[in-house]
Formats: sequence, structure tokens, C-alpha cells
Amino acid sequence: MSKSRSRLLMCKCLLCQKREATKKGSHIIPSFFMKRINSIDGCNERDHELGFSIKLGTIDSYFGREVYEDRRREYTDDESRMEDRTNLDTMDNVFCPECEKLFSKYESKYSQTYNLPFDKDLVENTKVSGKEAALFWYGVIWRASATKQFNVSLNSDFEEKLRRIVLSENINDSGIYYALHYTKEYRKDNPTFALFDCKGNVAMLIVDEFMIELFNGEEAAKSDEVLWGMNFKCDVPKLNNGLKPENIGLFPLWIFRYINKYIMHQLVKRIDFRGKFNAFHMKLFGREMPAFFYEEVMSEVRKAKMADMYTVPNYAIAMKRVIQAHPELYKVQFKEE
Ligand SMILES: [Zn+2]
Repeated sequence: MSKSRSRLLMCKCLLCQKREATKKGSHIIPSFFMKRINSIDGCNERDHELGFSIKLGTIDSYFGREVYEDRRREYTDDESRMEDRTNLDTMDNVFCPECEKLFSKYESKYSQTYNLPFDKDLVENTKVSGKEAALFWYGVIWRASATKQFNVSLNSDFEEKLRRIVLSENINDSGIYYALHYTKEYRKDNPTFALFDCKGNVAMLIVDEFMIELFNGEEAAKSDEVLWGMNFKCDVPKLNNGLKPENIGLFPLWIFRYINKYIMHQLVKRIDFRGKFNAFHMKLFGREMPAFFYEEVMSEVRKAKMADMYTVPNYAIAMKRVIQAHPELYKVQFKEE
């Protein structure tokens, strides 16, 4: 596991493109979201985190500083992970301290949104001005795109437009619209995530109990772009553009649960375990894997503890067990460990 995801030193800040990107530990998704998403035992303190990040082929996890050994052992059997302090949500040397201050200004204001009553189907955000709310969300989505934290980026015009808006703090005539949905008390009984996808002039971010759809141009808001392979068009509540107080539409629990489950399923599908295991099988034995092989390997993979499950060492162990269980098909000798 890589220890830190630093860019080379002496890079320019991605936002202002002028000053040196000397800031360490920048959150891409604001920390007030991440500590809700990653907290265990419903404790929202920073450093009590257990995070998962889905990469192409593996799911990395990390433990917050305050998650002690006995708790770590519930999630992993990997001894090397006991002392691991990697934080997957932060990056070094992407922003300068001044731009980081700009982000935190909007973040600390916007975090008050959680204190809204959410007692109607459409709630007006009275905690921040419409402009502050828009600049907050544009900043989050621009960072997700510009840092490629989720392996996807907006098209370059859209990304550059957002960068200029966030940097100048000027939202007039932006032509950008967004629909914001919230699902009250979802995290009480469900895990929450940070997920980001975009296509053309549409972007979608799910973060904790929020889902935001961002549109570059009014036409884009009417488009039928399919994100995450989701054939599901949400009823867009009143569109926001920062010029009026922000409107937040309330989602019923079951819809948000459906969306989250569907997207996780799509993400795991993108990993393409079947293709990967088959390629490995071809390499080792010079033939396609038999029909039972995939199901048996996946069932072994799922026996590991949560943080170990989707990792390369666990895939190897799972394949080895399946191969050993079928000596009639595989004449392989394994070295004893
Ligand atoms: Zn900067």
C-alpha cells in the first residue's frame, strides 16, 4: 500500500496555478463529510475513521489514528495494517495554503446545513447564502475532478469553468445549475459513501446523505446522460444556481438506499473480477477457468475480514484455496508457508 499520495514537490497549486502547492493533508472531500462517512460506532470525531476507497481492482482501506489494535483486528488479519496510518482521503502538494483557506471558509459555513430541520419535501437552506452554498459545492466537485481522486474528471471546459468560478468567487452568469437531494437519517442504519461520476456536461456526487447533480448549461439539466450505468432519472427538485437561497429536495430512504446499492454494485462490476481471475488462470494453466472457479474464488474472497477482502493478497489466497480443493484438475505443488 502506498504511504502517501504526494505530487512531486515544486508543483503549482491546482486552483490558483500561481503559488507553490505546499499544503499537506488537503481533504478532497471536506473533512466534515468524511468523518461522518468513515466514523465507526457513530462517533463523528476525526481520527476515529475507517475508510474505504475503491480503486481499479482493489479496495483500499485505512484506519484513523485513534482506532486501536483490538478494533483494527475486527476488520483485518493483516499484521502490517496494525500500524498503518495512511489517510486515503487527503493529498499532499496539490493546493497552496491560501487556496486551502478559501475552501475551508465555505466548508465551515456549509457544515451548518446538517442543522436544518428537513421537515418538508423541499427545504430552503437558511444556514448559508445561495452564493456560499453554490461556491461550496462547486469547490467540492472541482476538487474531485481536478485531483482525479475518483479516477474520473469533468470535460476540460467544464472543469476550467468551475476552477475560475471557485477562484474568483464570482457565480454571476455561470450557466451552471445543480439539484441537491438529501436523505434524512439515512446513516442511522446504512453505511454512507463518497462517490463521484461525470459524463459530458453532467456530474453527480454522492456524499454521506447528500446527492448533487451538477449541470453545465440549462440544456444539460434536461439531458439523459446515464451515470454509473444507472437507468434511473431522479425527479430534479428546483434547480439552484447560487443566485437565490439553495433548495434541497428530500429523498425517501428507500430511493437513496436503492441508488447507493446500485452504484456499489456497478463499482464492484467495474473491477471485473471474472475477467481478472480468468486472465490469471490462463496465465497459470494455459486454459480458460472452469465454470465453478469464479463462484468458488469469490466465496473464498468474501471469507476475509472487511478491510482485507478486496486486496491482491486475498485474491491470491482465495485462488490458491480453490486450486488446492480440486487436485483432480490442478497438479500444482504449493510451498508450505
Ligand atoms: Zn493556490
